[in-house]
Amino acid sequence: MTAEDSHELRADGETTWEVVVEGFDPLTERGAEAVLSVANGYFGVRAALEEGNPASNPMVVVAGVYVPTKSPAQQTLLELPDPSSFDVTVDGRPLQMSSVRTVEHVRQIDLRRGTSMRTWSFVDGEGRSWRWESLRAASATQKECYFHQLRLALEEGDAPVKVVLSLPRGAILTSRRRDHETQMLVARDARTPQLLRAMALVHGGQTNIVDGSITALVEPGRPLTMNSVSRIMGSDGNEEKGECRFERLFIDHKRTWKERWKVANLQVDGNPRLEQAVRFAAYHLISSAAVSEGRASIGPRNLSGSGYHGHIFWDTEIFILPFLSLVWPRAARACLLYRHRTLNAARHRARSYGYEGALYAWESTDTGEERTPDYAFLPNGSAIRILNGEQENHISADVPYAVIQYWRATGDDAFMLRYGAEILFECARFWCSRVSPADQGCCSIRRVIGPNEYHESVDNNAYTNAMARWTLIQAWAYAEEMERKSPEGAKALLRRLGIKPGEHYEWRQVAETICRSSFQEDEVVEQFDGFFGLEEVDVASYRRAGIPLDIAVGHEAVQRMRVVKQADVLMALCLAPEMWSEAAARRNMAYYEPLTAHTSSLSPPVHALLAAWLRDDALCQAYLDQTIDIDLGDSYRRAASGVHTGALGGLWQAVVFGLGGLKYSADRLEFDPFLPTSVRGLSFAVNWRGRRVDVRISDRQSVDIKVKGPPCEIRVNQERRVVKPGRYEPFQFDSAATYWSARGGEGDADD
Ligand code: BGC
Ligand code: BGC
Repeated sequence: MTAEDSHELRADGETTWEVVVEGFDPLTERGAEAVLSVANGYFGVRAALEEGNPASNPMVVVAGVYVPTKSPAQQTLLELPDPSSFDVTVDGRPLQMSSVRTVEHVRQIDLRRGTSMRTWSFVDGEGRSWRWESLRAASATQKECYFHQLRLALEEGDAPVKVVLSLPRGAILTSRRRDHETQMLVARDARTPQLLRAMALVHGGQTNIVDGSITALVEPGRPLTMNSVSRIMGSDGNEEKGECRFERLFIDHKRTWKERWKVANLQVDGNPRLEQAVRFAAYHLISSAAVSEGRASIGPRNLSGSGYHGHIFWDTEIFILPFLSLVWPRAARACLLYRHRTLNAARHRARSYGYEGALYAWESTDTGEERTPDYAFLPNGSAIRILNGEQENHISADVPYAVIQYWRATGDDAFMLRYGAEILFECARFWCSRVSPADQGCCSIRRVIGPNEYHESVDNNAYTNAMARWTLIQAWAYAEEMERKSPEGAKALLRRLGIKPGEHYEWRQVAETICRSSFQEDEVVEQFDGFFGLEEVDVASYRRAGIPLDIAVGHEAVQRMRVVKQADVLMALCLAPEMWSEAAARRNMAYYEPLTAHTSSLSPPVHALLAAWLRDDALCQAYLDQTIDIDLGDSYRRAASGVHTGALGGLWQAVVFGLGGLKYSADRLEFDPFLPTSVRGLSFAVNWRGRRVDVRISDRQSVDIKVKGPPCEIRVNQERRVVKPGRYEPFQFDSAATYWSARGGEGDADD
């Protein structure tokens, strides 16, 4: 290993670019493995200790590669063995955390370079001091390459010590080669032909290689160093490429991460904890994503664990894609292509219920068929029916919502024409057929589950109704715009998609009559029919105790209670503030926030964002803190099953959309910033319609904006100006001015 390489094993000391886990605690180890995991959108590797540990759950998963399972979930992500694991013996004794005295054990992710590192200093049974250093990364440039570097050094001593590293059972060395300094080994794992490793061994002393074992005599000044590159193949091939290109891969990897951070980086002055958390969020979001042609999408635990079996939920479209659309649009497009690829399955599903158009699966895998388990077992062993697959239909509004937001952010007309419009129109058709006929001028949507999953089979869930209406209006508006811009093109598109002439007028008409879908009056919106009449419950005491309410009181009882699992009415406010008046926004926040149990990790970031929009400093800070703790403090005690990717996307939105007050349409970028007292300044960048826009907000009420690319219209509070490319241009803002007040009062239901 060169001096340059060994330097890379250390982080650069800037704490907000690192997430550090010190020591070793079997109780939290599985969560740490997820937090410290590496991924490249194609595969992910948890940060399990190389030498193995009973507390570990080592795992490699490949995005979009599912296998059948006997559990009700039907399909789960295929788990591959961890190529960084070895059985290690020192002087004939197995090396384990428990068999030595640990002096120091530190693991960290270097967020900037996309690597996960470990340093372990220990004293063995003979009193010898050792230092174990390792680094791992999922190549950001070669999607199937995983690289791992290991260095084991004897700090002092007078005789060589025999160290044996054995590849996991079943690994077979298929070839080896030697030049003056390095030995090249190529191994294949007998259990999974997909896993192939090329290892370069650099050791000044004696090394002996037999089958799957490497034996080295290690002495001071002659550490054992091994660079290995494993090729993790999906279903698309397994060709043997023996050459180890560790150094090249590593250089490219770091360069690519540097590129990603040019837009993804956020700086939060005065609040290092928030800065670290939002960089950590961006790290995992970038790691989750890939530029694929719609082969796979991103699950709620991305590739850092097997939570939810790697199924795809609305988390992707509503919580993750806003980040990708503005930071890495091609990766956002790939996720939307996945929805286009699975559109036929969604059509079948709609038809199977007697509806038209497309009903996406609540939990989707490779084919897009519904994979929500039909039942689950409670801790007492009894089974309950899970109705989400049948009833959580809002997914067919969430997907088109992401399509439109992506289009607004990128101006990718070609995507819209070829894919987006089809998704949008088919979902509009679904909602048109899903509503019950108007009764006294008002259409209902019956028997649904909203984002608040505590209440099943409800009628007129405010979120579902509002987003169904939103979808219908957007579909109509897109068809109209097409007709205006290019009548011939519009005709051809509608014909291709089988849309009858005039069908889109019906979408508009139905939208106008969906009840409980507009929020202009200064009143509390009932979350669904009958919600106001439910039993009161002391939600705050459950929140304080950290007990999920449905677990504490039971599935049946929670249905009778006036409690909200996660943002629901408020979710509609978060996604479409233009449908709301400020008075209604305030009223509903004041009513629903205290009723919310936040049993889903998706809920706190939404509340942080809304508290910022409504200028509630203390509430905003409290919810930011809660959001930060979800993975970094494992406050939901579920990090073991993977990081909470939706909540990480939510944190980014709370900072950029909440504090930064960023909104965007196809015409302009808008800012109504609000910095809570703990934040002195905020800087970030976004891509918007072929430009890069850098934003610097300071608590002195100034926003500086720099545009790279064509000039761009910016609104800051009530001031609108076209910013030309070049230097930062200053604006002033008033933190009391909200999005609504800046727009001159009420919202606009049809925006
Ligand atoms: C989630 C649902 C999901 C179900 C089955 C529940 O915990 O809240 O959204 O469909 O698990 O996976
Ligand atoms: C939430 C859903 C979410 C799912 C996966 C559930 O607990 O209620 O909204 O999609 O988890 O994150």
